[in-house]
Amino acid sequence: MKCPYHDCQKDYNPEWGNETQTISPTSKCTEGDGLWIETSECKFCERQFHEVYRAKAEKKDSYQGRASYSTIRKELLFTFPSTKTKFEAKKIPKKIKNAFNEAERCKSVGSLTGVGACLRKTIYAICDDKSASGRDYKEKIANLPVKGKYQSLLKQVKWLGDNTTKPGDKKYTMADANLAIEILPLLVEELYAKDEKIEDVEKVLAKVKSRK
Ligand SMILES: [Zn+2]
Repeated sequence: MKCPYHDCQKDYNPEWGNETQTISPTSKCTEGDGLWIETSECKFCERQFHEVYRAKAEKKDSYQGRASYSTIRKELLFTFPSTKTKFEAKKIPKKIKNAFNEAERCKSVGSLTGVGACLRKTIYAICDDKSASGRDYKEKIANLPVKGKYQSLLKQVKWLGDNTTKPGDKKYTMADANLAIEILPLLVEELYAKDEKIEDVEKVLAKVKSRK
């Protein structure tokens, strides 16, 4: 798990402990929906971030004529702030960055279908930008100038996108999507940083040539 602040993004260890705060449905504790907030602090940048869950207050046995309630954490509603990866390589097209950042926003509200679709869109945008040849995106991905391991990662992310947007049995979880979200920016950086280095070398060589 990474710190969500884009200028930090260091590996955050959940075992550092969370502060939990529950907000009951009303000021009086009664049955119904409320909020459950877990606040964590990054030990590197010392900023806080929050996970907001739906909570349910449930009536327990009465004690001396008074009802008592216990609050139970239910599903994750959203995380705040949501992660927004800042890409380093200057030549990465906006389309690619936007699609990827949208995947991160989908993740922050727990939308697995959204994450799958936006990650696939990110890869399609890479194929388009690199003018990869092929009859369909499966072929285009296979023709992208990336190493073998990255090649299979791209295919798996496409698979994730294809399957999250299809009705039917779930074969994947948010944990699968999280891994793709962590690794895809590394691939994008490498893909575009390489181009920048090649261009830099070309410029230097052109300068050397012009001196002759
Ligand atoms: Zn941090």
